[in-house]
Formats: sequence, structure tokens, C-alpha cells
Amino acid sequence: VVFKVPGETNTDDLSPAQEAWSRPDIPQHAKAMLVSKMPDGLATIAKLKEKGLPLAYVGDVVGTGSSRKSAINSVQWHMGEDIPHIPNKRTGGLVLGGKIAPIFFNTAEDSGALPIQCDVQGMNTGDVIVIRPFEGRVTNEAGETLSTFDIAPVTLPDEVRAGGRIPLIIGRGLTTKAREALGLPPSDLFIKPVAPKDTGKGYTLAQKMVGRACGVTGIRPGTYCEPKITTVGSQDTTGAMTRDELKELACLGFSADLVMQSFCHTAAYPKPVDIKLQHTLPEFMSSRGGVSLRPGDGVIHSWLNRMLLPDTVGTGGDSHTRFPIGISFPAGSGLVAFGAAMGSMPLDMPESVLVRFKGTMQPGITLRDLVNAIPYAAIQEGTLTVGKQGKKNVFNGRILEIEGLPDLKVEQAFEFADASAERSANGCTVRLNKEPVAEYLRSNVALLEKMIEDGYEDPRTLRRRIEKINAWLGNQDLLEPDADAEYAHVIEIDLNEIKEPLLACPNDPDDIKPLSAVVGDKIDEVFIGSCMTNIGHYRAAAKVLDDAGLIPTRLWIAPPTRMDESELREEGAYSVFGRVGGRTEVPGCSLCMGNQARVADKATVFSTSTRNFDNRMGKDARVYLGSAELAAVCA
Ligand code: SF4
Repeated sequence: VVFKVPGETNTDDLSPAQEAWSRPDIPQHAKAMLVSKMPDGLATIAKLKEKGLPLAYVGDVVGTGSSRKSAINSVQWHMGEDIPHIPNKRTGGLVLGGKIAPIFFNTAEDSGALPIQCDVQGMNTGDVIVIRPFEGRVTNEAGETLSTFDIAPVTLPDEVRAGGRIPLIIGRGLTTKAREALGLPPSDLFIKPVAPKDTGKGYTLAQKMVGRACGVTGIRPGTYCEPKITTVGSQDTTGAMTRDELKELACLGFSADLVMQSFCHTAAYPKPVDIKLQHTLPEFMSSRGGVSLRPGDGVIHSWLNRMLLPDTVGTGGDSHTRFPIGISFPAGSGLVAFGAAMGSMPLDMPESVLVRFKGTMQPGITLRDLVNAIPYAAIQEGTLTVGKQGKKNVFNGRILEIEGLPDLKVEQAFEFADASAERSANGCTVRLNKEPVAEYLRSNVALLEKMIEDGYEDPRTLRRRIEKINAWLGNQDLLEPDADAEYAHVIEIDLNEIKEPLLACPNDPDDIKPLSAVVGDKIDEVFIGSCMTNIGHYRAAAKVLDDAGLIPTRLWIAPPTRMDESELREEGAYSVFGRVGGRTEVPGCSLCMGNQARVADKATVFSTSTRNFDNRMGKDARVYLGSAELAAVCA
């Protein structure tokens, strides 16, 4: 039976940030599913269940936004099947979407659900449909075809039978080992991934990075592989679920070289349940060899990026785990736990979209404008649409590969990588020269040394990482894409053509417009913060605000790390923020996630944060996204 949620369902609709504290308690958390998006949604589900048939979650665009295992947990709780002898958790379930965001798709796969991308325009709530996975058809009760689809990846039926991709990989591995030990031939029980044809062409940067992590020169798109995972990030609002998944995997020590845990989402205004986690999770992680940050240290990515090794592969339980050097494939907490425990993760290598910048950056244009220029260019050429019905998104599920700005600082490169999450891209690479990478790594060694000195656990992991960074610094070498590498699509952006700031408009990170198109809209609140910022943004904002006097808006300032905070205090930027009436917050995610302090209901906001989904920052808030400089001007 179809349960249809028209338009876009993001993971915050399924697993609201304000209810993040209850995520490890699946039945409790599931009560919050769709409360804002569709207040009568759960009552409708209960009614549809009376038909006695399985329910399918159907939407035009499903699962955009954060990498929330809790989102799929909630869908499965309402629409899945019981797992014998396991209370408070379910498996199975059907998700049909015109577009399904890649991380959500993977998380559904990992959890034993059947995600299908197909045209859903002919399906409505209450319809009885028949899904024929092996024929690739959805029909109505009369047998008329409503939609067709390809089962992808081909191993999906095995994954569903095994109760998820992770149990399948483990079961397949154990079967192989057991049969080898018994002298039996390989099992023919499992569907084998089919390798795509080798085109003989060169490889992109991402294909080479993943290739190196698999011990080969490159990996073609469509190839199933299991790259070595070198760095893993876990944040606090998914950390408890990752912990539970690690327990299920009986993980007593991490195989991934570095696993880091942060407390950036709950540091500012913790609930008792957050405090409990802050007290217990560090020991859980560090006793397995992980590195645990402390509440108030700052945003996960601003720290994790400083522990990276060039040209390596990683993952993280936060959808913005997007390495500015190397490549990361963010994932739900099940896969993150798997990557941390096993030191490798399953990957169906995505295709790549190349974005090439050329020309010269114009005066008054910031890097954030260039970040917004990517979807803007795609909208103009028709490969990205803002409307949700029949949405086009050339980046969806692909790797965004960026070149043409090789001298960016690594912090700046992260602005591009970070925003690839909003494009629903699977990953991102930024092609940089060796000099900015080496400069960044040298300062990172000093930071990691200081962490050891300050008693951060586990010092052996930090020491090992310092040695590896130093080894790279002693032999500086970066992978480069081949000239004849193949891309699914190429977008060229001429910097000479970008002459005014570009903003993401309320409430869609894809809805990019030039400033002149929205000028005059009254701004109530301004947020300067999130992982999209670095210290330079606060310096620039302080400069703009210096002579402003008392400002008429509510201004929130939350630097990404405590080091930035103390530096900005020393430099006098905080005195400017205080003088104009700004509210300075604990370094961390702050308003960006909206799970703690929030803007006023219905406020119009200008924010430097990552995404402006409905109700994320405040109830019925209208949120523009743009540069810190423009934020200060708006304030
Ligand atoms: S600052 Fe925002 S986007 Fe970045 S990690 Fe925190 S909540 Fe996620």
C-alpha cells in the first residue's frame, strides 16, 4: 500500500534534529517521524495498515540531507518487519522515490530495506501496487504498469534476503573462509557484482584515490570495491547509534587507522541524556583506539580535516564528512561502524562530474559565491532543477570533482567539498597544488602534538597519524587525474562572469539567485557559524561590523573551533561582536543543526551555514545562505 509524501522528504523530516537525543531508542524516536512535514502522517500510516498489506514509503525526492540511520530506522519501525528475538528494532521495508539521496539509499541497503528509484507520479496514498523487483516493474492491482526501474546494485536482492548489505558482506566473507578451510569450491549462492567494461581511458582523481585504497591504479564507475578506510569521523548525535552498531559487530578495536569522535552538536546546551553521552562515549571510543574530542572543542570537520592524509579514503557518520584532501564517502552509522571496525567499506564506485573553474575572480566575490556558482551554473544549463517533481540533479549520487583553483588553502577547499552534501553528491575531490597541502599538514602536526600534550586519548593513534603525515611531508606526492579521464558530465564556470554575490534562497540550497534578485527582503536574524566557516570569515565579518553601532538584527556568532575562538578574542574581533549586540556561542554546530538554540518562529535569516531545509533553524523560518561578508552587511 502506498504511503505517499509528495515533494521532498529530507532526513530531518523523518528524524527531526530537535529529537536527536532519542535516536538510539528507535520506537521512541519514531514517534517524531514527519511531525512537521505531515502532522497526520502517523495516523495515516496506522489507517493504511488496516489493509493488512506491507506499506511502501513513496516520495518524489526522498532522503536528502544528513546521513541519518535514525531516519531509516523510523521508516522501518513504522513500515518494516520484526527481527526475531531482537526487540525495538525492525528490518525490511520499501522505499520508492523519483530520486533517492545516495546516503539514504546506502543506509536503506545496509538496513535490509528495498530502495527503488522510479517514477512515482502515478502513485498516491492508499493505492495498492505490486512491485516486481526481478521484472523491474511497478503495477497496479489490475496489472497495468505504473513505473519501470532497474534493480541497482545487482546484489540488492541478496542484501534484502540477508537483512542488509552489512550482514551480507559478513555472511559472504564467512562463507568464503569456511569453504576455503573445508577445501570446497566457492559458493554459487550469492549474486556476483558485475564489473563494468574497461574503456581503456584514463582515471579521474577520485577514481585514482579509490584505486590506491584498493591496491590498483584506478576504479571504473560501476565497479563494486572495498577500499581501505584510513580516517573515520563520528559526531555526537549519531555517535550513540554508531556505538550500538559497533557493539553488534563485537568490535573491540578499530581496524581503521584513525577514528575520531566529536561532541559539536550537543556541546552548547546539552540535555541530561547528552551529558551522559559526553561522559561515556569518549572512553568507549578511545578504548578501541579512537580519538575523542571534548565538548566545546568545535565542529567535527574542522578537526577531522586536520587529521587527514592526502589521497586516502574515509567515511563518517555526518553527511558533511567530505575531505578537502583525499576523498570521503559519508554514510549512516551502520556503515560507519563497519568501516571503523573492519578498516574497509563496500562501495559501488560512482560516476564523476567535473566542475572546472577558469578566469579570474572578480572584486567583491567570495569563495562562498563560487560554491553557490556550481548549482547556479547547473540550473542555467538545465542539469539541475529546483522543483521537486521530476527533479533533475546532475550531481545526485555522483562524485563532484573540482579543479581550476589549485592554490586554495585547504580550509577553503573544504567549503567546496562540504557543500557537495547539498548537491546530494556521493563524494567530492578538490584538485590542489602540493604547497597549500604541505602548509596545512605542517600546522596539523603541531596541533596533533599539542593534543597529545593536553592528554587527548588515544595518544598512540595520534602519534601514528603524526608519523604518517611527516612521512608524506618528507616525500610530497599528490595524485593527479589523467588528461583523458572520463566524466559523466563537465561544467565550466568562468570566474569573469560572476560579478555579484550568489545566495541560496528560502528554503532550498539548490535555489541559487544573484543578490540583485532578492535585494530588499528584510532580515531578522543572522548566523555566522558552521563547518562552512573558518577564522578568516570572522575576521572579515568583524571588519564589516566594526563601525556599525548597535545592529537591528539578532546576530549569532559561533566559530568552528575553540582555537579560532581564542584567536578571535585576542585579535579583538569578539569585542566588535559584543559591541554591536551580537550573541557569541560555544564553538560547535550551534544554530546550523537547530537541535538546540533556534531562531524565532517565522524569522527571515541570513546564514553562513550549510543547508536551509524547512524548519531546520527555526519553525517556519526563511533562510538565505551566503558568505560571512554578506551576513555581516545584512546584520
Ligand atoms: S556545522 Fe552544521 S553541517 Fe557542519 S557538522 Fe555541524 S550541523 Fe553538520
